[in-house]
Amino acid sequence: MKIRFEASACVGHGRCYALAPEVYDADDQGHCIVRYEVVPPELEEQARAGAANCPEAALAVED
Ligand code: SF4
Repeated sequence: MKIRFEASACVGHGRCYALAPEVYDADDQGHCIVRYEVVPPELEEQARAGAANCPEAALAVED
């Protein structure tokens, strides 16, 4: 699984890293940092949850 992150759409709500801190992190402004280029299988559920809960649709997962 890979994560597509549209940085220009991210406004820093923090939903992604609050729900899935092992997959997503925050920069100094509270914007998302994706920790993995390829998500380890054991973290795919977290990756999906974080992406699905981004209010700006800045995140998407691809199998
Ligand atoms: S939930 Fe979406 S808008 Fe909020 S920090 Fe994460 S990627 Fe950015």
